[in-house]
Amino acid sequence: MTNNSPLAQVHEKMIQRTMKMLEHNNMTAYYAPTIQDAQRLVKEMIPQGATVACGGSMSLEEAGIVEILRSGDYTFWDRAAVDSTQQDEVLRKAFFADYYLSSSNAVTEQGELYNVDGNANRVAALCYGPKHVLFVVGYNKIVPTLEHAKERVQAVAAPANAIRLHRDTPCTITGHCENCHSPQRICCTTVIHQQQREPGRIQVILVGEELGY
Ligand code: SF4
Repeated sequence: MTNNSPLAQVHEKMIQRTMKMLEHNNMTAYYAPTIQDAQRLVKEMIPQGATVACGGSMSLEEAGIVEILRSGDYTFWDRAAVDSTQQDEVLRKAFFADYYLSSSNAVTEQGELYNVDGNANRVAALCYGPKHVLFVVGYNKIVPTLEHAKERVQAVAAPANAIRLHRDTPCTITGHCENCHSPQRICCTTVIHQQQREPGRIQVILVGEELGY
């Protein structure tokens, strides 16, 4: 967020409220007003030579974070860099990464992270395995409550991702979740991070720009 308009001030107050509640839930929260600030934070937080992995994410792509992971400064277990015969091995290696990066489908103002997966490799790594989990999330993902998070995924995130992934699911036609039983369903496992037992394992960078969907 780079201006001081009334709307920008409202968004920033929402971000600050959310950060306070994330901290209250034993997660570490950072505010990055711009994408460039988020990139700088990521570079500062991950030591050179660390092993890194990430979930599939438009936000990480748009914010240039995936490019940073591919810079050569890290050992990046990059599933996009291997063929289908090696995909499973790379996804499993991610559980041993020093840093796992992801966006979040929604963040609530109560300090909760709400994520829905098809394969569940991403939500599994968010829960256990990698020593550090680093979320980079645009302010457009902030919602008041878990109920709003669920609505956000059903009305926006999941249909948009299904379209992006060219899935044969009803939401790609209607633009809203139809709770399908398609073999290509992308919403199979839902994970909610609330208060964490291990302080600081989860770190969340809230970005003052829109990222992903
Ligand atoms: S459950 Fe099916 S219809 Fe609903 S958003 Fe997911 S893929 Fe689309």
